[in-house]
Amino acid sequence: MEQTLKGTIILGDEFEATEGYITIKDGIIEDIEERDIKTESIIAPCFVNAHTHIGDSVIKDPPYLPLPELVQPPDGLKHRILKDISYPELVISMKACIEDMIKTGTCAFADFREGGVNGAGALGESLSGHNICARIFGRPADGDMSYLDLCDGTGLSSASDMDIDSIKEILSQTKIKKKKFAIHAGEKDTTDIDAAIGLVPDFLVHLTHARMRDLRSVSDANIPVVVCLRSNLLTRSGIPPVKKMLDEGMLVAAGTDNVMLNSVNMFSEMEFLAKTALFDDRQVFKLCTLNGAKVLGIDKELGSIKKGKKARLMILTKKSNNMMGIKNPLSSIVRRARPDDIIGII
Ligand SMILES: [Zn+2]
Repeated sequence: MEQTLKGTIILGDEFEATEGYITIKDGIIEDIEERDIKTESIIAPCFVNAHTHIGDSVIKDPPYLPLPELVQPPDGLKHRILKDISYPELVISMKACIEDMIKTGTCAFADFREGGVNGAGALGESLSGHNICARIFGRPADGDMSYLDLCDGTGLSSASDMDIDSIKEILSQTKIKKKKFAIHAGEKDTTDIDAAIGLVPDFLVHLTHARMRDLRSVSDANIPVVVCLRSNLLTRSGIPPVKKMLDEGMLVAAGTDNVMLNSVNMFSEMEFLAKTALFDDRQVFKLCTLNGAKVLGIDKELGSIKKGKKARLMILTKKSNNMMGIKNPLSSIVRRARPDDIIGII
């Protein structure tokens, strides 16, 4: 099947706003023709949400509690609620979350999935029939490592939440299966950063409290980082040093983190990143698209609009009350666009 779209294209890996046409054949971008045309549409690559916990979408409005009381295993609020939730309820909640991601312009996400093999299985079932690329990072329940057969890797809560030898054993089992290993670090303070870097994970999540020496170590070890700005704001953890991370040459992506804390709406994540941390619209958009795809190893197919990549695109209107009169499409997408400005998802 062939299809041609016309619009202002947020083109290539540098996201240059370019008028023209995109021809799509069998789901792949076959041709891009730059042309001086008048258009009321913007065509942008869909988002890559590089860190979620969609299992806790069964809770939507927890009280404002300190971070450990909310999320720390084994007795944080989310773990107490997840223990009591039935499998069908969990699947219904995660399905709704996946549909929300697709509707709000996300084409790929990476989820830290609690609950061992059952938790991973529930996410696999929730994904069925949905056109979204998912990377599942499970974790063992009661020492059972068989979740790895259903997952793309392991995602652990913190190097301080378990003894380091147990974590090293999980890491080793993960690598034997040729899967990825990721871990949260530096979310509430600096205490778990050194140990997390020492594990040389495939990526770190947060580094909100990273000091310059931590950023240098992470950069030297070529470890990518996923920042979760809205999550850090809500848990009063602070603002991650995103600009310094980029200045150190680190690969930085963005994620919306726990669904119980934040919606999966990446427009909202972009707006907060732009206005509180980065003040650089191109970098913000890159964090939320191409960099996420790079961290997850799916950038040959997703993350930007280029010939030969998958056509996972969102079409936005320039005519809505919110977008009317915009002069800089990229800045407007990053700082003010909303899901209701989307007129088509491909
Ligand atoms: Zn997380």
